[in-house]
Amino acid sequence: MEQVVKVHVMHTGDLKYDQSLAFKELNVIPPVNQRGEAYQQLVPVSSYLIEHPQGRVIVDAGWHEDIRTNPKEHFGEELYQFIEYRSPVGSSVREQLESKGLTPADVDMVVMTHLDEDHISGLQLLIGAKRFLVSELEWKHVASYKAKWYQGISFEPFELEPIPYGPYKLGKDLFGDGLVFLVYTPGHTAGHVSVLARVEGGWLLLVSDVGYAEKSWKELVLPGNTFDEKLALESLQWVQKFAERPDCVGAFANHDPAVLPGIY
Ligand SMILES: [Zn+2]
Repeated sequence: MEQVVKVHVMHTGDLKYDQSLAFKELNVIPPVNQRGEAYQQLVPVSSYLIEHPQGRVIVDAGWHEDIRTNPKEHFGEELYQFIEYRSPVGSSVREQLESKGLTPADVDMVVMTHLDEDHISGLQLLIGAKRFLVSELEWKHVASYKAKWYQGISFEPFELEPIPYGPYKLGKDLFGDGLVFLVYTPGHTAGHVSVLARVEGGWLLLVSDVGYAEKSWKELVLPGNTFDEKLALESLQWVQKFAERPDCVGAFANHDPAVLPGIY
């Protein structure tokens, strides 16, 4: 029988922001609620559990439980003005693992698609997991000024290797068996990766923040924040092409409200 993995989509809470943060339309993104309700979006903040025959992988950490009681301190003043956050009890990555009978010690690898705050906020809830991985490029660009988020965690930055997929055919075959690829899809950030998982029926592409919803790659709309617009467009174009493959069963943006929690 063909080996496959299972992907659990978990929503760790949600996030409200001006729509220009998701879909580039302005040069400067306004703080949340400044432009009125019609311009605001409420979206999920996702984390994923991948069950591979050789181990469990968490992709992105979502929100920390601290934001329920202490958001200003958790995020800092500057970020606080751009977004509103919510993480109902039971929704953090730690709590959702617990509801599946798992603890961080049962997690073999934590993989970060990139190091934006809505992806690293909950990292410390995963202390006890065996390994923490991030691309070396992302690490080099971001690590030094976000150190407070990684206290107690020792990241292994990985070098990009040739793989059969992606806009540059670079990334990492996570288990060396072609079932889970980290795919180098830069542009939103310097070392952003997407995750390609071989599930029942074909490939599931966890796009992360290459785009914020299906319309991002259908209409080639860049994210509001980009490290490099040319790379961001090339990554979006690759997602557009990959999503059209008959063996692609889904392309999921991290913050797309149309992607529901569940097991895929
Ligand atoms: Zn994000």
